[in-house]
Amino acid sequence: MRCPYCSAEQGRCTSSTSGRPITECTSCGRVVEERLTQSHHLFHTRAQDSPLCLATSDLPTLPISATNDDEDPFEPTGFITAFSTWSLEPYPVFAQSSISFAGHLAELERVLETTSTSSSSSSSSVVVENLRAYLQIIDVASILRLDYDISDHAFQLFRDCSSATCLRNRSVEALATAALVHAIREAQEPRTLQEISVAANLPQKEIGKYIKILGEALQLSQPINSNSISVHMPRFCTLLQLNKSAQELATHIGEVIINKCFCTRRNPISISAAAIYLACQLEDKRKTQAEICKVTGLTEVTLRKVYKELLENWDDLLPSSYKPVVPPEKAFPSATIATGRSLTPRVDLVEGTSSERDKPVKPVNSLDVSPQIRGKEDSHSKDNINTTQLSWPPPFWKPEAPAEGGVKTATEKSQNATQEMEIDL
Ligand SMILES: [Zn+2]
Repeated sequence: MRCPYCSAEQGRCTSSTSGRPITECTSCGRVVEERLTQSHHLFHTRAQDSPLCLATSDLPTLPISATNDDEDPFEPTGFITAFSTWSLEPYPVFAQSSISFAGHLAELERVLETTSTSSSSSSSSVVVENLRAYLQIIDVASILRLDYDISDHAFQLFRDCSSATCLRNRSVEALATAALVHAIREAQEPRTLQEISVAANLPQKEIGKYIKILGEALQLSQPINSNSISVHMPRFCTLLQLNKSAQELATHIGEVIINKCFCTRRNPISISAAAIYLACQLEDKRKTQAEICKVTGLTEVTLRKVYKELLENWDDLLPSSYKPVVPPEKAFPSATIATGRSLTPRVDLVEGTSSERDKPVKPVNSLDVSPQIRGKEDSHSKDNINTTQLSWPPPFWKPEAPAEGGVKTATEKSQNATQEMEIDL
């Protein structure tokens, strides 16, 4: 036997919870094979074929013995004959026939069982959603020839997300695909968003939107990779001899990037490095790119790329009460900065985004069992509203002096962002 999931060679016979005999892989525990066994009792068949043939032939002719020869053990009394017939086959003889077939259905059953037992609310709609997500992930993963560990992890992410937020009016398939994208990135599997989009038959934009939803939802229950930044950041800051305020700012920026999934395709080291560089610009701690690269082991090209990505969202990365030492207009000369941003507190922006962000998150118990088609239509109309409301950059982020060479319009910027995403994933 060879496990199709982990390529282990050893299996063991056991039975599923519903009692069917299966073969499971000893190393990963997945169902490899399902068997159907049937016992055929040969003994009964045989007994009916010729029932006690010896006994019947003896009994009618059994002479009533005149001589009291009870001692003779070979006297054909019929009892002995009958007994000897039975003793020929002292045990019931049966044969077992067995058919074995691929265990995909039993494996699916196993996965869904672990799902329904782990979540307290195992309503039928949750089971159906899980099944749809599972099939979507398995489908796309098999087209992309991904490892089963990745699809397993993607399914885990999907379940975490669906228990943290409400899936109402959202596309299960798109969320499942986003979970797969995340799992692919975590495994550092070189697959572009474009490839995944083609395999999943979903537009990149749609997947990207759900990657964001996934990131925001899991921030509540399970931050991804967040401890990696917290491991690297203090060491880098110490090596660069940054003061406390710059270190705190860099750490804050790094955490926001991870929690909001701004740079999901970047590893914690490059995020830490770019966050440090950004913090140094604002804190007037002039560290050259070369200095930071020496400490972090990054190339300057990568640092500049990641830094550029951070600048696209720099306003979101800073603590709300933060007052930079160097005004952002001077710190980021190439980026377009709305004048007066550093002076006026961003009360309206912060309140606006947070209230909008809270809206889609509804209580989990209000699950809708309405037909899927209706749900999909609703999701489209609602999504459109959400995208416009949450559109980034915010409306005030308009270049005031488009004459300058480095200035780009908001749309150009976001286009660039998506283009780079496709290439770099
Ligand atoms: Zn296995």
